[in-house]
Amino acid sequence: MSAAGGVWVYAERRGDAFRSVSLEILGRAREVADTLGERLVALTAGSGEGPARELARFGADEVVAVDHPLLVRYDTHLYTSLVEREVRAGGPSVLLLGATRDGQDLAGRLAVRLRTGLTAHVTSLEVDPQRRLVGWVPGFGGGIEAGIVCPDRKPSIITVRPGVFPLPSPRPARGEVRMVRPTLPANAFGSHRVAFDPKGEGVDLTRSEVLVIGGRGTDGDFVPLQRLAQCLGGEVGATRVATDSGWVDRERMIGQTGVVTRPKVAVVLGASGAVQFTVGIEKAGFVIAVNRDPDAPIFESADLGLVGDLAPIVDRVVKELGEP
Ligand SMILES: Cc1cc2nc3c(=O)[nH]c(=O)nc-3n(C[C@H](O)[C@H](O)[C@H](O)COP(=O)(O)OP(=O)(O)OC[C@H]3O[C@@H](n4cnc5c(N)ncnc54)[C@H](O)[C@@H]3O)c2cc1C
Repeated sequence: MSAAGGVWVYAERRGDAFRSVSLEILGRAREVADTLGERLVALTAGSGEGPARELARFGADEVVAVDHPLLVRYDTHLYTSLVEREVRAGGPSVLLLGATRDGQDLAGRLAVRLRTGLTAHVTSLEVDPQRRLVGWVPGFGGGIEAGIVCPDRKPSIITVRPGVFPLPSPRPARGEVRMVRPTLPANAFGSHRVAFDPKGEGVDLTRSEVLVIGGRGTDGDFVPLQRLAQCLGGEVGATRVATDSGWVDRERMIGQTGVVTRPKVAVVLGASGAVQFTVGIEKAGFVIAVNRDPDAPIFESADLGLVGDLAPIVDRVVKELGEP
């Protein structure tokens, strides 16, 4: 590995757009790079040049964009090899990725290939007095926070949870954009798609202004919640019990191991209010909770609480608002 240094952010693409967590990380990484006196590089991979130019508006000194038609969607082996090649050539001191499904997949493989450390799912980043980047991770159900450094190996690979840093506003581009166009054989794509189920694909709950969130109390019936979300122009989210039970796609899990959200309104239905869940809605503007247990802890996090069975309440609200 070269000793070039630099703070690198892997910016994950979804078609022509970037995952908001990647842009959130870029905003914080700009501050980290300035504190360390290092360059900030945004590395991305995909098909088409336009999005790479857009990325240059988020504070990076340089954008490295690996571009090939075969990169139109994520492929574990192909993406790992191409990103590894750029990281080896650039020799960053830090590589930050979003803790998304693909980001976690890529980060783990890169850490093994580069024989370096991986700090997963951090909720904050800080430069310590020894000028090392510390990733903070909640542990033991939120009871402690562990600060993790990777002092002996480079790059220090860190995945960051979506929603923990604010989304920066785009600015006039400051850095150069370097396009990398690899030559790939037509069969380079390592996996073969046998079916495509769009359920849950592409949802980004961190951008939703209204969330209708269901827990175990829904008993698995999320149809009324979807109707309510549609009436309110929002999205459906879920507690871990609901995603672990397979009632809702895992991408919609809110909380410590899921997504940290900042909606204007969160409607929480049939969730007890475990701290691992409520950290995911504590930045919400207004929280409405429905639970049949008047002592449920969720009421401590709610601005408005309704004690009762969620089904007739949701039904009535949907009727009042007018069926979507
Ligand atoms: C390390 C760790 C990380 C975790 N991360 C997360 C995370 O990111 N997100 C997350 O959600 N959880 C997480 N959990 C799990 C968390 O601790 C809770 O177990 C989970 O949030 C509980 O989900 P729930 O509220 O849906 O279920 P329960 O706790 O079982 O609560 C169900 C609630 O529904 C109410 N209810 C039942 N029927 C009805 C009805 N008909 N009408 C109205 N109310 C009704 C009940 O009174 C009860 O309060 C984590 C746990 C650990 C240990």
